[in-house]
Amino acid sequence: MLRLESTTRRSLILYGALLVLPTLIFGWLYWSELQKDFERDRQAIPEKALDDAHKIVARMNQRLENLLENESKRPFTHYAPLVSADVMGDDLVPLPTPLETSTNTPGVLGWFSFDPNGEVRTFVRQGIPNREHQRAEIQSMVQDFRTRKPVESSAHGLGSGVSSAFKNPALAIPLRDLALSLGKGDVECAECVQRCLPQLRDKTLQVGVSDFELTFYVDSDKRPIAIASRRVFKRGALDSELLQQPVPCLAPLEKGLSLKQGFVFDPQWLFKDLPWDIAQTVLDQDEELRTPPEALPIDSIGSLFAAIHIVRDLAFETYYPEDANYGRLEIVIDDERFEERVARQSQRFLSTGAMLLLTLGIGMTLLYRSVRRELDQAHRMQNFVAAVTHELRTPISTIRLHAEMLQDGWVDASKQSEYYDRIVRETLRLSTLVERVLEKSRLKENVTRPVAGDLNQHVLALKDDLVPTGDGKSDVVFQLEPKLPKAWLTAEGVGMIVSNLVENARKYAPPRDEPLVVRTRWNNGRVLLEVLDRGPGVPVGEREKIFEAFYRIGSEQTRTTTGTGLGLHLVRLHAETCGAEASVEDREHGGSVFRVAFRPAD
Ligand code: ADP
Repeated sequence: MLRLESTTRRSLILYGALLVLPTLIFGWLYWSELQKDFERDRQAIPEKALDDAHKIVARMNQRLENLLENESKRPFTHYAPLVSADVMGDDLVPLPTPLETSTNTPGVLGWFSFDPNGEVRTFVRQGIPNREHQRAEIQSMVQDFRTRKPVESSAHGLGSGVSSAFKNPALAIPLRDLALSLGKGDVECAECVQRCLPQLRDKTLQVGVSDFELTFYVDSDKRPIAIASRRVFKRGALDSELLQQPVPCLAPLEKGLSLKQGFVFDPQWLFKDLPWDIAQTVLDQDEELRTPPEALPIDSIGSLFAAIHIVRDLAFETYYPEDANYGRLEIVIDDERFEERVARQSQRFLSTGAMLLLTLGIGMTLLYRSVRRELDQAHRMQNFVAAVTHELRTPISTIRLHAEMLQDGWVDASKQSEYYDRIVRETLRLSTLVERVLEKSRLKENVTRPVAGDLNQHVLALKDDLVPTGDGKSDVVFQLEPKLPKAWLTAEGVGMIVSNLVENARKYAPPRDEPLVVRTRWNNGRVLLEVLDRGPGVPVGEREKIFEAFYRIGSEQTRTTTGTGLGLHLVRLHAETCGAEASVEDREHGGSVFRVAFRPAD
């Protein structure tokens, strides 16, 4: 038995070592790898946000450069109500400035031009609602801008301020265009230029034009004002021929040429449309661009990872340091969604792991049970072989001894018949054993069919056989319930069941003061056949097992009674053949009740 126990243990250890352990190790390795990946991704979040912020700023700068480049190409003479169409000859064809007639200039609210002493001219493109209101707005913004000290420290583009104007090559501007641009811009002015045309033909003036400078500030009305401005001034002298006689349309030039012109940015475009438009192409679905919630203190922003300061990052010059922080945008990352994803993946892994462990656990239990069953079977076979050997040895040696004595003539004639009787009895014992083994395999095949029969009648038929020989006093009493319904049974089965149970009772619970009881009764819809004794009873844990083949309580060594462990198994097999159930329970005031419950046939 000890060897069998260790076999069970060994097979379980093997199962654990080959299946459970590798699964646990791989599971643990995979889990720690998964956690490392999550950590790496978590750390990459701020880096990615910073990277994306740089990308957004770079693309905004690119778009701004494009806008400035396009605006730089605009001749400064276009900053006037009337411009001259590009025609040769003596005719002047004055046209309204393209600044007013153009329809698509995203990012620009309007243009302006002024000289230090003159008026501010503003231009607003066509087709926008409230055009005059916008013109007035721009007018007031530029008036305000004009009063401010120029910011000359640095500039967007190549050079800075006036110096950049000197770096840029001087432009030769036709005097005809210049005269029209500097004039009042009315019909009178156009006529004046027309009259002067013969003198102005083919004459030009060298003019310097600086790069655009970007300036930003918040004015006293809290309006954000973003302006690109450049300077225009005379770099050459007027043709000496011209100076000999007065040319009325060039009168404005007499005071010199010093203009400041440029355009006012559309704040909606600069601070909203542009960054959001770019963000759409740069940010992924977990990132979001937002204006900081002003009401919230900075530490409650939570998942902020990178900031963009439009004014500072696009290199606008400011008058006040705090203006440099204007247009702050934040890239926030929805790390909740990331954490959710982490939780989801972890959960998926854990549930798969749990399923796997459950499967392994079930496998282990099944393996344990199957090994146990096999071991029990082997154990019973071992017991059976021991029992059969023992059972065979005694009758065979008795038969041999008696037969040899008879053969050698050692037995008196008077005793000879007793010896022959003994030989026959032992032979019967042997054949019973063999019969039982054969009966077991026959019953297993289940060939007999039950019939509806009277149980009492079958039990009464056995009465004579159950009364022991000897003094003829019976140790069995019969209590048969009259009018018992018919039950499904076989005569052979009832005979075998009763004789086996009585035989067992005599063996394991020999009747002393009280006889054994063979009882039939009707209970709970079943026809019961019971054998009651006053023996030691059967422990609860053994009540199922004793009906199994070759099972005997205790070990073969400790058992004093002879037997094969087949008796009760045959009882169960016979009961099953009839569709009945065999069981055992404690008898009141000591002993056991062995019961077979038959199905009623009516
Ligand atoms: P066997 O009698 O050949 O050992 P059985 O199958 O008839 O085999 O009995 C199985 C076991 O049940 C016996 O070994 C015995 O320990 C127990 N047993 C059977 N009948 C009784 C009884 N009336 N009282 C107590 N134990 C019993």
